[in-house]
Amino acid sequence: MMNYSFLYQQIVNGYSSLPLHLLPGYSLPPLQLFLEVTYNCNLSCDFCQFLQSSDSGSMPASANRFELSIGECHNIVEQAPPTAVISFTGGEPFVKAGFADLLGAASERNKTHIFTNGTRIGGKTAESLVDLGSRNLLTPGLILVGISLEGLADTHNRITGRPWAYAKTIEGLHSLAHYKASKNRKYPLIELKTVISENNVRELYAIYQVAKQCRVDIFNVMAMSMLPQASRTGRCAAGSYLEPPPPVKPVAPVILEEQLRRIQEDAARSEIQLRTTPQGFDFREIINHYHDKRRLAGYRCYYPWYGVGISAYGDLLICPYTVTGNVREHRIKTLLNNRRARIFRKHLQAARIFPGCWGCCMLVPRKPRLPR
Ligand code: SF4
Ligand code: SF4
Repeated sequence: MMNYSFLYQQIVNGYSSLPLHLLPGYSLPPLQLFLEVTYNCNLSCDFCQFLQSSDSGSMPASANRFELSIGECHNIVEQAPPTAVISFTGGEPFVKAGFADLLGAASERNKTHIFTNGTRIGGKTAESLVDLGSRNLLTPGLILVGISLEGLADTHNRITGRPWAYAKTIEGLHSLAHYKASKNRKYPLIELKTVISENNVRELYAIYQVAKQCRVDIFNVMAMSMLPQASRTGRCAAGSYLEPPPPVKPVAPVILEEQLRRIQEDAARSEIQLRTTPQGFDFREIINHYHDKRRLAGYRCYYPWYGVGISAYGDLLICPYTVTGNVREHRIKTLLNNRRARIFRKHLQAARIFPGCWGCCMLVPRKPRLPR
């Protein structure tokens, strides 16, 4: 299978280079828009940054900040350029009332992508997601469903704090694969994502085998990120990216290395595509990450020139550290290139990378590496 992640990264690097060199501080319209539709979730993962998990999916996540209404989410989607890939994330997007309609509307106009825990996509929902699938890479539609699985049954249920979570997620994965096969559809691609921790490091290869059994297209090995999230806390001070994030809790190096080696060897003989998060990390760098060996000099970031995130409270971020304003007060295109945004980009352009970037999903190698 073609490595779309690598291809996409080359496109966005080229796109970002134009304003980077010709219009210092400015960005062109975004190619990627992340919309956090809610911070509520029906799971309660022990490493979750949201902390406001709720079974009802309807509680505001903070006493004095209110999440975007579904109408406001539609308005944001309408402001996105048709060329942007819209990634819906949370919390858990499917606990947001009206999310299915929002995804449907966005997928008629844009390429879309969802991050979900997969517990609410059995049966009919899976079929409707497959029906939203893009016909090819040039047409709008749902291109990727990213589903998180943190371990085998006992581990996953313990980490997520729900005894039924594993069964529900596996049911969702099988349903998606079933409808894709029965409708002979390539898209949406299905990606299984696992965040490495001391709790699941011994099971990584077994989780990868589950991914194969569930006929997923991509297996994503994710390094735990320790970056503060300005979108949720609103507390990132200007310049806080000058401080390195705290180290991640170490995992047994020999076991991690062995598990990753087995995955890599097996994947070389299989159709499944391996992916890493951060996308610029190879397996060696993931091992380094868990032992606090940081080599930032080999990396760059173009994200503020091609991407934008909107928090469930309406804050617009061009980096996890930098809120430029709120979409309830200004239009997206105003917030993208206001003074705060331009200052941040100029600062990043001069520094190339900040100490606070270590572990960010948006890190890319300074010299592109060919996919594994
Ligand atoms: S599934 Fe995601 S949003 Fe939900 S509790 Fe787990 S980490 Fe948090
Ligand atoms: S790599 Fe650094 S500059 Fe880029 S988005 Fe991440 S934290 Fe921000």
